[in-house]
Amino acid sequence: MSLRFHRFDLRLKHTFTIAHDSRDVQPSLIVELRDGPLSGFGEATSNKYYGITLDRMIDDLEGIRGLIESNEWTTAEDLWQLAHASLKDNPFAQCALDEAAHDLVAKRAGKPLYRHWNLDASQNPITDYTIGIDSVDNMVLKMQELPWPLYKIKLGTPDDLAIVQALRQHTDAVFRVDANCAWTADTAIQNALDFKALGVEFIEQPLKADDWEGMKRVVRESVLPVIADESCIVESDVERCAGYFHGINIKLTKCGGLTPARRMIDKARQLGLKVMVGCMNETSVGISAIAQLLPLLDYVDMDGTLLITNDPATGVTFDFGRVIYADENGTGANLILNS
Ligand SMILES: [Mg+2]
Repeated sequence: MSLRFHRFDLRLKHTFTIAHDSRDVQPSLIVELRDGPLSGFGEATSNKYYGITLDRMIDDLEGIRGLIESNEWTTAEDLWQLAHASLKDNPFAQCALDEAAHDLVAKRAGKPLYRHWNLDASQNPITDYTIGIDSVDNMVLKMQELPWPLYKIKLGTPDDLAIVQALRQHTDAVFRVDANCAWTADTAIQNALDFKALGVEFIEQPLKADDWEGMKRVVRESVLPVIADESCIVESDVERCAGYFHGINIKLTKCGGLTPARRMIDKARQLGLKVMVGCMNETSVGISAIAQLLPLLDYVDMDGTLLITNDPATGVTFDFGRVIYADENGTGANLILNS
């Protein structure tokens, strides 16, 4: 078995702007576990907010190259556990390694990963397509660029209601909105009323990540479900969200891969929480890994490949929101451009 790294600079279709960052390029690391004729692929993007660079991910994985290339593990869960002691401060690196291990293990078994997990993909949810914050005219243009049945609209501006009202005039699609921590409890409760009438299905992260007092009110009074994102990063956060949110949004890079994500999903179900999985700006490698979880999810936001213009991989494809698996084993992802 050999561990290989592939670095990419992904070009974003639209400039990505949030409070402290604006960028047109997203660096991404693809990890390959090559075993004879089989290769497993996993991915994590860099992240300024979490201080994660491609160099840091590679350094941390190089530190356990011996373990990764050894025969000490046979399942991806084994490797996750063995690697966790060294990678616990770098969930992004752990995610890329874990996805690659799951991909390889399912390829060895000769099955698509979701079938290797005995999941039934007949009722998979459709994915949304994200409309980033921009002028209203540009948001309408972004929406018209890709006709879709379900849009996730990024909010957190002084004009949130006007934005949703304006977008509603151009489509009958279902909306979900992501406030990215920007609202107060009063705003969230009022927006839920207005947005429900405008065909919004749920609100993601209305309040600051640590405003549990505010969320206690919002979860009771909001007429729309509220889903935790910034308030739910790692496994231990799931339990805390019960009673404060109706559901959680899991990101593979932040929690450390498919292995902990599956545990988080199980935990959320025990607690009666809805489950969503979200993405960063991954290529078809990361997005195809997310797709394996679809049978377990209520909602999914896996539009990463639709928001980049130079995907170096193949994998899942999309048909008006529906996710179509590649006709391959593992996650179905393959590199087409090598670095
Ligand atoms: Mg979010």
